[in-house]
Amino acid sequence: MYRVVDTHAHLSDLEDLRTALERARGAGVCAIIAVSANLKTGLRTLEIAEEYPGYVYPAVGLHPTEIGPDYHEDLMFVEARAGDCVAVGEVGLDFWRRRGEPSKGEEERRRQVYVYTKQLEIAKRRGKPVLVHSRGAWALAHHLAVSMDISKAIFHWFTGPLRVLRAVLDSGYLVSATPAVEYSRAHREAVREVPLEQLVLETDCPVAYRGTPSEPADVVRTLRGVAELKGVSEGEVAEVTTRNAREFFDLP
Ligand SMILES: [Zn+2]
Repeated sequence: MYRVVDTHAHLSDLEDLRTALERARGAGVCAIIAVSANLKTGLRTLEIAEEYPGYVYPAVGLHPTEIGPDYHEDLMFVEARAGDCVAVGEVGLDFWRRRGEPSKGEEERRRQVYVYTKQLEIAKRRGKPVLVHSRGAWALAHHLAVSMDISKAIFHWFTGPLRVLRAVLDSGYLVSATPAVEYSRAHREAVREVPLEQLVLETDCPVAYRGTPSEPADVVRTLRGVAELKGVSEGEVAEVTTRNAREFFDLP
């Protein structure tokens, strides 16, 4: 059993949190970064972190697909509580066109950019790292982080073009791998390219992989998938990625 960190878990969305966290401890998960997507999940995430001190570390943020009419309230919440968190997230841009949906209109894109930029400012003011969702808008999400002079960011579950990935890595940012490393061509290509020193592990739970909802214990699947893909031992991947996560989030 290896000591691993799940650096991106939506714990507020898990059905049976207590049991899931027991299984996580049993699987060697030594810390969890609990991200959130809006005000409601943010409040719950802060509660969960208080219930599991020294194990669950919170992050607050307004996710690009969660921007509603009252988004100013969500932003005020992020501003007020970012100081109590290890990071600002999950934030970013999502221009991905899902099957059967129209492509994102100009107004929606502009609003996403505004909300993301505001949260980059908050992170900067509070001295917090940023957890970035960049699906379908990889280059712009990276460009905005760099132009806002953000020094610490994780580009979560990267599936974008390799040239953008290389720019992300050149900026000194980290990239996270999910259990999709087992089968997603785009994600496998990205993870293969990321040096271990810039990689961290996650689950994005409760996202379902191949039909099964995930939980933090599944970060072990990510570990196994990364080790296999890179041809390195699981022990080495665990050691380096856990060290990366501890340094990045400044964990005790
Ligand atoms: Zn997420």
